Amino acid sequence: MNIGIIGLGLIGGSLGLDLLAQKQNHYVWGISRHQDTCKQAVLMGAVEAASQDPDMIPYLKQTDLVVICTPIPAILPAIASISPLLSPQAIITDVGSVKSAIVASASQKWARFVGAHPMAGTAFQGITAAERNLFQQRPCVITPFSSPVDTQAVNLEPNSKSNTIDREAVEIVRSLWQSVGAIVHECSPEAHDQAVAWISHLPVMVSASLIAACQQEEDVAIAELAQKLASSGFRDTSRVGGGNPELGRLMAEYNRPALLKSLRAYQNSLQVLIDQVESEQWQGIENVLKITQSDRRSFVDGKG
Ligand code: NAP
Repeated sequence: MNIGIIGLGLIGGSLGLDLLAQKQNHYVWGISRHQDTCKQAVLMGAVEAASQDPDMIPYLKQTDLVVICTPIPAILPAIASISPLLSPQAIITDVGSVKSAIVASASQKWARFVGAHPMAGTAFQGITAAERNLFQQRPCVITPFSSPVDTQAVNLEPNSKSNTIDREAVEIVRSLWQSVGAIVHECSPEAHDQAVAWISHLPVMVSASLIAACQQEEDVAIAELAQKLASSGFRDTSRVGGGNPELGRLMAEYNRPALLKSLRAYQNSLQVLIDQVESEQWQGIENVLKITQSDRRSFVDGKG
């Protein structure tokens, strides 16, 4: 296949490395904003050709599949700028961590658009962070969008409500992610956004609040002592709150309703614990922790 990657960073670069390592004879090209990124991506073997300017990409018109791997705000603009240069048969997909805010508009811009989100990452960014096998055994969600059928073209009653999903395009995007080792799931953009709000976006906010709460200690000596004593437990629980601030902001901005629902549920859970501590309900606290100890397994067990 002729595959284009727009946005040569951690996700785009890692995808390119895996695709070119396959014995599939793919031709993989890339577009990024900076010339240094493009050069580095070619040197690393993440793409065969790369440029800031799509006109400089050989065989662009023969592209089968374009994967948009830019930061979220640049996804729709990237589709708008690349689509006039592609054949109508080409499929466009993305890797954005939110889906509702992208999928409907992207599907209007390009009929063969299929949203996706590989759930893999590291604490690092940019092309130098790209690595082989990043997606091995990681979930990847595909969020097909049913665009309204052109009722005249398919001879239906003019106002009949019928939707269609481009199954061929969905299956090609599924094969792409399966070929790099991902475990593919399929759901609506809305279901995706609520699910990731619970397990990805809420933890970032909770972890950030934990760090901010610890910083509220007024006694400087105690604050310093706490920093010295912080060990593996604090390292684990503060990790995602100490990550990329721009990514955290984008999660909140682009997944606001789902994140708010999760944050309010978390506030309720926290209030239950506050009430129990205040009223010295020690057995109640132990009961809550027994349930969470068991429930945690359904989220993390067997996932390495
Ligand atoms: P990243 O490492 O910062 O890579 C993004 C790359 O896009 C940058 O290297 C940048 O290269 C390029 N870029 C930025 N704006 C561009 C534009 N307008 N046109 C073309 N290229 C542009 O970020 P990432 O972690 O790979 O994230 C990329 C996407 O993956 C985001 O949409 C994010 O939601 C999604 N995602 C991230 C993770 C994660 O954990 N990191 C996981 C799953 C999905 P230049 O410097 O050359 O512009």
